[in-house]
Amino acid sequence: MPLRRSGPGETSVNALPPAAVAVRHDRMARVRLRMEELGVDALLLSHGADLPWLTGYRAMPLERLTLLVLPAEGEPALVVPGLEAPRVPDAGDLVAVVPWGDAEDPLDLVVARLAAAGTPRLALSDRAWAATVLALQRRLPDAEWLEASRVTAPLRAVKDATEVAALRAAAAAADRVAASLQAGAVPLVGRSEADVSADLARLLLAEGHHEVNFAIVASGPNAASPHHEPGRRRIGRGETVVCDFGGALSLEGEVGYCSDITRTVVTGEPTTEVRECYEVLGAAQKAAVEAARAGVPAASVDRAARRVIEAAGLGSRFIHRTGHGIGIEEHEDPYVVAGNEEVLRPGHAFSVEPGIYVPARFGMRLEDIVVVGADGSPDALNTVDRGLVVVEA
Ligand code: ZN
Ligand code: ZN
Ligand code: ZN
Repeated sequence: MPLRRSGPGETSVNALPPAAVAVRHDRMARVRLRMEELGVDALLLSHGADLPWLTGYRAMPLERLTLLVLPAEGEPALVVPGLEAPRVPDAGDLVAVVPWGDAEDPLDLVVARLAAAGTPRLALSDRAWAATVLALQRRLPDAEWLEASRVTAPLRAVKDATEVAALRAAAAAADRVAASLQAGAVPLVGRSEADVSADLARLLLAEGHHEVNFAIVASGPNAASPHHEPGRRRIGRGETVVCDFGGALSLEGEVGYCSDITRTVVTGEPTTEVRECYEVLGAAQKAAVEAARAGVPAASVDRAARRVIEAAGLGSRFIHRTGHGIGIEEHEDPYVVAGNEEVLRPGHAFSVEPGIYVPARFGMRLEDIVVVGADGSPDALNTVDRGLVVVEA
């Protein structure tokens, strides 16, 4: 079995920085502890964010199989398409890289590595293709399956200092884009939502993101649809425009961490109704940020926002959860939603993004990323103006 290792005298051009390797060894040890708690014999990770979190390698979502086989005991192996192997960063002895050729069946390599486990209990990536899942189930008919997130999600949800620094850098870059928008540097009136969206995406890259994940621009009646796809509609005067954008930013050899911000601007003096709704929204968002403290359930942050909007008689206009965790993925644990009784801890990072949507007329949302600080109090990573800024451009 060909294992790639950098031998003496060879220097890898694609090596993970030593600090990033040390972090991965620590994560792997914690993953194995949790596997033991859950009685998991092996963790199998395909493409998806668990893999870069644990190995530093971000696999493309190809049809060819990528699978990290992490047994409870013994050497972890990354079974990877041969042509992708050069992209796997060298992390020393963290994992053995096992490339497979296009004429091979990679499941032979996977099954061989699981043989010692007997009738195994296996945790498989939440993001694996159905084709991979079904093929594995045919090859291992007696295995018991559970989601890899049962092992990884609670660990990934608590960010360490390096991850918080990465989220903070991404948020600061998104803030600079939002500040340009609020300053009128991105013209709005008379332009299409799609053109404004393209400008926001360009600015995210110019401010240091390596990837743009989305740039929602929803104007006038379109703003009542939270995930509106920016289109050809031309932005008029006196309209609310919801701009919700984010991407991923990498710090020194690390995988990217995400930004996600929403600011609502208005193209000319807002009506009294819009102004009053925005006051409610601002108060709801502030209440939710202040509620985001260690020791309280995630659901109570949702409740804090919802209570303010309901008290103003607008409860039926707030049609989604208050937020989502954020990290290597835009949406991950912990979810800020009714029913999530998970208790917040220092290092939990999530969005706080209430909205008010009046169908066919207007909408508004205000979103910041918040981290629960080491002292248990909320730390809003986005700090750009939270008001309803009038943009005349
Ligand atoms: Zn969203
Ligand atoms: Zn957003
Ligand atoms: Zn969000």
